[in-house]
Amino acid sequence: MTSEQIKTLDKENVMQTYGRFDVVIDHGVGSTLYSPEGREYIDFASGIGVNSVGYGNERWLRAITDQAAKLAHISNLYYSEPYARLASILTARTGMADVFFANGGGEANEGLIKLARKYSYDKYGLGRATILTLVNSFHGRTITTLKATGQEVFHQYFFPFTEGFRYAEANDIASVRAQAGDDVCAVLLELVQGEGGVMPLERDFVDQVKALCEQNDWLLLVDEVQTGVGRTGTLFAFQQYGLLPDACSFAKGIAGGLPMSGIMANEKCRGVLTPGTHATTFGGNPVSAAAGIAVQEILDDDALAQVREKGDYLRARIEGFHSPAVAGVRGLGLMLGVQLREGYSNAALCADLAQRGLLALTAGQNVLRLLPPLVITREELDRGLSILKDALAAL
Ligand SMILES: *Cc1c(COP(=O)(O)O)cnc(C)c1O
Repeated sequence: MTSEQIKTLDKENVMQTYGRFDVVIDHGVGSTLYSPEGREYIDFASGIGVNSVGYGNERWLRAITDQAAKLAHISNLYYSEPYARLASILTARTGMADVFFANGGGEANEGLIKLARKYSYDKYGLGRATILTLVNSFHGRTITTLKATGQEVFHQYFFPFTEGFRYAEANDIASVRAQAGDDVCAVLLELVQGEGGVMPLERDFVDQVKALCEQNDWLLLVDEVQTGVGRTGTLFAFQQYGLLPDACSFAKGIAGGLPMSGIMANEKCRGVLTPGTHATTFGGNPVSAAAGIAVQEILDDDALAQVREKGDYLRARIEGFHSPAVAGVRGLGLMLGVQLREGYSNAALCADLAQRGLLALTAGQNVLRLLPPLVITREELDRGLSILKDALAAL
């Protein structure tokens, strides 16, 4: 089918919940994507931080095809090797105690919320179910995770929302203290707010939140759906904050392009979710888990060091453009935000970049968000940078 035919078919038959770019993608190689007509796009978006090992990675592909030929799905009523092996790799590389696999980020965060509330209920009984989250956070699209998201625009239409969330300002410990109370059981935060505008939390603030959690026996929950699996240059962002959270979620990049997510708990929270209290039919299915194992093998410590180097390079090159449209570049590893000045529009820039052959993302208040595949080559980075330079110069 041609791009025009695909767009028409979509508009007639698909719920129009996405404001899509005027771009149709047919296939990819490395970190470059192609339309049905062969139009080329450099990928600085990774399918929103998912395609961390690029397109057509041989090791990843072999893991999936071999596993699909053996067994694609069996349910969680039975043991299977890929699930157990991927969990063991994650606990070994992080120091966490145990893992539960699910399918998407919102679903994983629901699991975190359930874990925190059950931990507290088991120990203290009813009335201690409130979770503090941060203003400008993003935690998902379910009725509960919309409410966990600290942005009023998400608290519309779908009433009634799940109760039990209060919001504190990021990087402001007084604001967290002001939301404290006997009803609180946990704090949930992203270490780099992704959708909210690529805002890294300050190390001091995180240390203070951790201390507050310890004083009050609140669980410290980290949403690593976007920051996890190498995106920020360590396997999980909490590892560069010198932190072992009580529990964390992950999703986007975990299986390099197949739907998968999960949560991990530390020793204190091991076994909080007991048989029958949490489940999901597809969670950790053998094909996704095999893909996840391949991703872990590809993203070894050397590859993670390269993520940090590529991130530094990307940031330095963009700063070096000295564009009057750019107020600054921030982020960690290959999760970068280009803050635009007033009078420039991230959405317009992003659409223009797509027309020029570079896929990027928007975030927060006028931020251009860059999430290239973690395996992107220097040559592909340079080609993307040259498109970005031209587009900024044309503003
Ligand atoms: C994308 C994202 C989610 C939601 O993940 P889905 O897979 O879309 O449900 C939750 N939290 C963060 C930090 C995210 O970036």
